[in-house]
Amino acid sequence: MIMYYHSYMIDLPDALLAIAAGLNAILGFLILRQERNNITGTLYFLNILSILSWIAAALTYRNIADENLLFTTTQVLYIAPTVIASTFLLFSLYFPNKEKVGITRNFLIVFVPNILITIIILIPGLIIYDVAKFEGGENIIEFGDYYYIYAFYIISYFGSGIGILFNRYLHTKKTVEQRQIFSLLLVYFLATTLAFVTNLFLPWFGYFELNWLGQVFTLLMVLGVAYAIYQHKLFETKVILTELLVLVLLVFLFVQVLLSKESTDTAIGVTVFIVTAIVGILLIRNVNKEIHNRLEIKKLMAGLARANRRLQAMDKQKSEFVSIASHQLRSPLTAIRGYASMLLEESYGKFPPKAQKPLETIAESARMMAISIEDYLSVSRIESGNMKFDYSDFKLDEQAERVTDSLRQEATRSGLLLLFKKDLTSKSVVHADQGKVEQILHNLINNALKYTPKGSITVFLHDDTKAKRIFVEVIDTGIGMSEATQENIFHKFQRANNASSVNVHGTGLGLYVAKRMANEMKGDVYGFSEGEGKGSHFILELPLVH
Ligand code: ADP
Repeated sequence: MIMYYHSYMIDLPDALLAIAAGLNAILGFLILRQERNNITGTLYFLNILSILSWIAAALTYRNIADENLLFTTTQVLYIAPTVIASTFLLFSLYFPNKEKVGITRNFLIVFVPNILITIIILIPGLIIYDVAKFEGGENIIEFGDYYYIYAFYIISYFGSGIGILFNRYLHTKKTVEQRQIFSLLLVYFLATTLAFVTNLFLPWFGYFELNWLGQVFTLLMVLGVAYAIYQHKLFETKVILTELLVLVLLVFLFVQVLLSKESTDTAIGVTVFIVTAIVGILLIRNVNKEIHNRLEIKKLMAGLARANRRLQAMDKQKSEFVSIASHQLRSPLTAIRGYASMLLEESYGKFPPKAQKPLETIAESARMMAISIEDYLSVSRIESGNMKFDYSDFKLDEQAERVTDSLRQEATRSGLLLLFKKDLTSKSVVHADQGKVEQILHNLINNALKYTPKGSITVFLHDDTKAKRIFVEVIDTGIGMSEATQENIFHKFQRANNASSVNVHGTGLGLYVAKRMANEMKGDVYGFSEGEGKGSHFILELPLVH
């Protein structure tokens, strides 16, 4: 077989060595470009650089004619692996933690022995005694008496590096890191062990025919590292891989152009090369951009998550504050309302007629304030998830009529007509929280009263037995709502511009609370209007039991 490949134009070992050099060079270049700012990236690059010098020495060693230069080349061929071992050992010390701790000290510890062994190799006779060209086969080296020192040195350096990585593999708790280390360990262990056999031991025992294969085994490392970059985000970027792919493709196409004999082939080859180059550059750019964007988004998301957590905490605090404050306002207000009403009923004797109006204002303001406080409390209960629902079956028509009746006096006082109508086919029984339904109805009819200067308010009940829904409509002839208002009023604190001109009291919370409560009971509250001045229409919808 050895004789056989010599009949090729380019000999097989040289071709494989050239490929190994090419791929190592590409990987090294890309890693240097992407990772020059971190220590493991730099050390890995130096490792590839020393591998390259080893391959270059091998190519020279196999092809050089001059006997004197051959001896020097052989020395370089044996010095290069010591540097590969040193850079690998240093790399193993820093991988994957990218902190530059004690780098100078470690450099000295690793490289001082390296310089010593280099000097020993350079002294003729100690490690390498002589080298001779052998026609039809590999060169033959006569090793010196101290070759075992060299073997020991190389094995202990690589062994230490692999040992350190293995130890880290056993002790790291991060799975991604563990996988990265495993990939590297596997390929370095395989490549070095195989190279020890072909380039260290076999020549020692006089077999030189495979003294080039170790260099080719470095391809394993390139593939392993590329795999680790792809699969386990070694060196944190997939750009390297895309670039590697594009470059390999371009090199392949370029070689094809060089080898083409016909001019049409050359033309096609050049065109394909140019197109591939352009597409490749665009691809790399896109991948780069995508990675950049992803990092940006990740950063933004982390920021948003933090802001969101803070907002949630603040919102909770706010609800708690509102709840405490409202509770404290409630009891004095009850006293004010109680005494105002007793005064109005003349429980403390007659009051001067002049006091009638002020007393009524006190009573009315206190009533409005109680409603507002109830709204604030409801909001804080809804938002803190503390609103309790006490479900029972009851007849909605009876309740709606009762609430309407309770407000009729007030309507009459404002000169408004408050009507109650129903058109029902069912018994109007609903399964809901009676207190909450009352609060909702109160709110809707009260709003109609507040926002209707003159005319009438109709409370109208109807049902849809097929859909099993029942509706309470509150229809007024009041100030109406613009389209923009209709969209907003169910949000917290939203009041229309025309609302304050009619009624200054109001929190903008009533409808928000009503809708949230209705939704909780599997119903809804919604409203619409033909426009400002054209009256409004609000509806409470609930599921019907029977
Ligand atoms: P408040 O009445 O305390 O302001 P609500 O949440 O009950 O709060 O109502 C929100 C807004 O919806 C009111 O400020 C008003 O602009 C509008 N609105 C509610 N009911 C009516 C209605 N019947 N007619 C016209 N506008 C209304």
